[in-house]
Amino acid sequence: MSCIRVIFSEEYNKKISNMTDLYRVLPEEMDDLVIKLGQPRYRADQLLQALYHESPKKMSDLHQIPSAMRDALVKDGYTIGSEDEVHRVVSEDGHTTKLLLKFDEKTLIETVLMQYSPTQDKTHPRSTVCVSTQVGCPMGCVFCATGQMGFEKNLKAEEIVSQVLHFANILRQRGEHVTNLVFMGMGEPLANYDETIRAIKLLTHPRAFGLGQRSITISTVGVIPGMDRLADENIQVKLAISLHAPNDELRKKLVPTAGPHSVGDLIAAAKRYFKKTGRRVTFEYALIDGINDSTKVALELAYILKGNGAHVNLIPMNPTAGGFKRPERKRVLAFQQILRNGDVNCTVRVEKGAEISAACGQLRTDMIEKIR
Ligand code: SF4
Repeated sequence: MSCIRVIFSEEYNKKISNMTDLYRVLPEEMDDLVIKLGQPRYRADQLLQALYHESPKKMSDLHQIPSAMRDALVKDGYTIGSEDEVHRVVSEDGHTTKLLLKFDEKTLIETVLMQYSPTQDKTHPRSTVCVSTQVGCPMGCVFCATGQMGFEKNLKAEEIVSQVLHFANILRQRGEHVTNLVFMGMGEPLANYDETIRAIKLLTHPRAFGLGQRSITISTVGVIPGMDRLADENIQVKLAISLHAPNDELRKKLVPTAGPHSVGDLIAAAKRYFKKTGRRVTFEYALIDGINDSTKVALELAYILKGNGAHVNLIPMNPTAGGFKRPERKRVLAFQQILRNGDVNCTVRVEKGAEISAACGQLRTDMIEKIR
């Protein structure tokens, strides 16, 4: 695809780099900030409450904060970053909403809300936001529209946070809220490690957005140093590895950047993660018609995962521009059965929103020429 790049003036870049978005300031840092401004500590809580639960778009929307303090924040280079929603598509059943958000001329990303019917004892639907962590992606998976864009840039923590808050605001207006978060949008979250972790801290801190850590899943295509680092963080998030193949030959065809890490390395890293955290890793497997969905491949996958207590999540793939197809339903179920027969726990993900370009990166690809 063609890619339009915008050259920014040095002056503009300098101005941006000197500003700090309040959505990247951790609660402890907010305490230090208000004290530095000569304000009592409770002002930090007022700021956090307004930022995370009232959706201010600009400094003057912070009505609880004295105007002198707001002026001091502006003077010191603090801003409230706000994203523009440039496109919205809702699936026919209303359960999937996909947005294109623009943060600046260089930053246009997708984010998705997937809703599932409430379970018996709950009155609200499960509302899962799927966030992006990069513009484009360096991993280059051949079946992924984002992978085919190439890599443009890492997102900042505040840009990751804003995707969740944007949907939280939409849901709040109908009496609902964000219940879950998956890092499965554009980009490889562990290749943007520090900003991803900062975003998780902001979204889970009780004084900020307050989402439960166990409601979050990070999906990686296999950045092993990042997985090992994550195991050492005191964060109770779930980890999923996008495996897609049971052997290196096939995996390298689907994930060309997989080179340095073998399938065996990934399984070993998953075991280390479990040993350190007590949390089992899920293996995601995008099922592609005629590529990685044969009986032979299923048997091989069952063989390498048997006895690991592994859980496999099969994802019948959404069609993308690459011409890859979703297998027929009976093939998906046969693949699942082979894994189960091999004593491997296996579920099939309910795919949502295929008719609204819900595959990762697809909407941005479809829309970019129209809106830039
Ligand atoms: S599937 Fe994920 S890791 Fe692979 S190219 Fe797409 S966004 Fe990147």
